[in-house]
Amino acid sequence: MQAVPTISIVVPAYNEQEGLAELHARVAAVMNATGESWELLLVNDGSTDATLACMEALRAADPHVALVNLSRNFGKEIATTAGLDHAAGAAVIVIDADLQDPPELIPQMIALWRQGFDTVYAQRRRREGETWMKKTTARLFYRLMEGVSRVRVPRDTGDFRLMSRRVVEALRLLREQHRFMKGLFAWVGYPSTPIVYDRAPRFAGTTKWNYWKLWNLALEGITSFTVMPLKLATYLGLAFAVVAAIYMCVIVVKTLLWGNPVAGYPSLMAVVLFLGGAQLMTLGVIGEYLGRVFNETKGRPLYLVERHCPSTAEDAAPVRLLANG
Ligand code: UDP
Ligand code: MG
Repeated sequence: MQAVPTISIVVPAYNEQEGLAELHARVAAVMNATGESWELLLVNDGSTDATLACMEALRAADPHVALVNLSRNFGKEIATTAGLDHAAGAAVIVIDADLQDPPELIPQMIALWRQGFDTVYAQRRRREGETWMKKTTARLFYRLMEGVSRVRVPRDTGDFRLMSRRVVEALRLLREQHRFMKGLFAWVGYPSTPIVYDRAPRFAGTTKWNYWKLWNLALEGITSFTVMPLKLATYLGLAFAVVAAIYMCVIVVKTLLWGNPVAGYPSLMAVVLFLGGAQLMTLGVIGEYLGRVFNETKGRPLYLVERHCPSTAEDAAPVRLLANG
């Protein structure tokens, strides 16, 4: 019988050469102290720097290290998914490579998992070093998500979390191309509990996020979990129709009482332009959904694996080998 590690720690990494050794050292220190069998599954998401070489060196030095090399850069969501697909543990922990999430929280997560929680997610107490703008937009987004969709996405929660095997298996059933991970995590359900922590600034390297990407992430979140914007278009149309009907009555009565002096070019222009804009916007909303339908119908695999090297520790030999999604 092949042994399976109890804990798999999945790390999506894109151009993280400076931080990986430090991450490995801290994770190893924490995990060896817990006495659990473990593997550290590093997913190289098509890095353009020495990340892969760095991972290989770590794997050569420590048999707990496993490695999945994707064929190119697929983005964090898909890299994380690839990690979940290749993780063998009874519980899987997802952690960023940049050490913004302290590995020292892991023993607490394991303790709560042993108590019976399927998901233990790390919730940020404070958002340090972030601008007022970023905080406000983040708050707005969470409120909007709560208002319009049925899944409850926990606030200030990233991907740093522990998941039980059944949660991982549930997540693995969700093969959509447009992966809003926070939403997918929440969609799965099962008993879950937060642990609160202070998020550190990045250890090394730079973040790959900017406002345009965040805006697109927000769009992804909303369009993958609710058709509310489409409904909104319906009601917007209805509201315009009602207002137009009232205005029509006003014009008819005015014309009957005072005749028609052929005025109203400005109001006509305003109405035409405004309605034109509203129509284009609604078409855009429909387009957002249509584009997603198009992408999903192609049915492409989520990612391709260039190489998978499982961990080789006596106490951590993965039994499942998957080619790709
Ligand atoms: N990441 C990835 N693929 C990408 C972009 C990022 O695997 O295309 C990884 C990155 O290496 C890091 C994690 O995803 O481990 C989070 O990235 P980042 O720190 O840039 O995001 P933030 O912490 O600002 O959410
Ligand atoms: Mg980060």
